[in-house]
Amino acid sequence: MNSHADQTIAGLKLGAQLAEAYLQQIHQRHVAPKPSALTELAALDCELPEQPTRPSDTLSLLDRAGSPATVATTGGRFFGLVVGGALPATVGSRVLNAAWDQLATTQDCSPVALQLERTAARWLLDLLRLPAHASVGYVTGTTMGNFTCLAAARHRQLQKLGWDVEQHGLYGAPPLRVIASEEIHVTVTKVLSLLGLGKQNVLSIETDSNGAMRADKLPELGPDCIVLTQAGNVNSGAIDPIGRIAERAHAADAWVHVDGAFGLWARVNPELNAMTRGIELADSWVTDAHKWLNTPYDCGVAICRHSSAIHAAMSTVAPYFTSDSHVAPKDMVPELSRSARAMDVWAALHSLGREGLGDLIQRCCRHAQMAAHSLRSMGFDIVNDVVLNQVVVSHPTDHHQLAKIAEIVQRSGEAWFGVTHWKQRDAFRLSFSSWATTDEDLERLLNAIQLAARQLGLK
Ligand SMILES: *Cc1c(COP(=O)(O)O)cnc(C)c1O
Repeated sequence: MNSHADQTIAGLKLGAQLAEAYLQQIHQRHVAPKPSALTELAALDCELPEQPTRPSDTLSLLDRAGSPATVATTGGRFFGLVVGGALPATVGSRVLNAAWDQLATTQDCSPVALQLERTAARWLLDLLRLPAHASVGYVTGTTMGNFTCLAAARHRQLQKLGWDVEQHGLYGAPPLRVIASEEIHVTVTKVLSLLGLGKQNVLSIETDSNGAMRADKLPELGPDCIVLTQAGNVNSGAIDPIGRIAERAHAADAWVHVDGAFGLWARVNPELNAMTRGIELADSWVTDAHKWLNTPYDCGVAICRHSSAIHAAMSTVAPYFTSDSHVAPKDMVPELSRSARAMDVWAALHSLGREGLGDLIQRCCRHAQMAAHSLRSMGFDIVNDVVLNQVVVSHPTDHHQLAKIAEIVQRSGEAWFGVTHWKQRDAFRLSFSSWATTDEDLERLLNAIQLAARQLGLK
């Protein structure tokens, strides 16, 4: 090896070889790692080497000890949380992105990163049918997306009350009222604490039987209000009646935020139009690319109608940054230095196309319907209204066995899903969000559940 580039190429090739071997057996392997794989992790917990290690030795160790202890989330039989897989073009673009190692901060640092951000933004706003002039920032995920958008909301609503929160903080500020569904996601609660708005200062709004916020339960609103809605209840998949909420909120000059971590993608499926109507009326929206769009982690998008509020909350000024005619990437999200993350979104959308994305969303919804149907006929209760990609499964008599079913299936390696508690019922939850899940994978999941149910003697 002579040049630095040659050394990098060697690392890249070995990495690709190891990744290839890993992916070649992903379809056959246990979804959760076998217990024996966990003991091998000790090899990674070695002492910090005093001397350099050859990159090939570093990579080989990573693969030997690490690969068996991964959970096969990219293989099509992982139905836990809302995880999604990684589309071929995005795995490839990650490799290219690593070789580029771009700093997506300003135009000067990486013209290509900026172009990808802008083009992916245009595509996203078109696909999700959101205002074409909205600000789009690329973050690590929905948690940081919520943080970004709610910082903008905090700025704008306090500005209306005559307070400059960026300059003076919240000391002595007029109070804001945060109004949220009782089904708010835990990460939104954390964001409220990070923003100094407090976890407990939230007025909780009742939800309907499927976990969607009841618009008729909203209190009198005003410019001191931020209303937190969600598109995609993490259990049921329900989408809040955001159009109706936004109409009321805007009449009172309140801000409406949409946590659309996975459910915002319902906007691309015309069959779901009734449920997603009016989402475009909100002030800010967040979605994950690493969930239903199937990019690798970490990738999320913070979208905001009021780019001046985003800019006020997020911009950084220093003499070594030249000003840019457009808002620079660094002025739309919390981080200064970060990767050309929009490349994931660009590659996913470019490779899928409008039709491919629509098919992906539709296929996942269809799998959810099929699963619900089969599980009902096995004697299970489906306790949510399956409106999207989520299925919450309970049992009329043997609900105390549901966690055991999840455990048995996890141990079998055939599939992976987790337990939840929904509307006072113990349940397990299936999420369909991977591009890699086939009809055959669904069958394997259902067979594994049936086998576990028989083993436990369920009626
Ligand atoms: C996953 C999820 C989040 C958190 O997103 P991260 O990407 O994990 O930060 C927030 N809200 C909902 C509804 C989610 O499903």
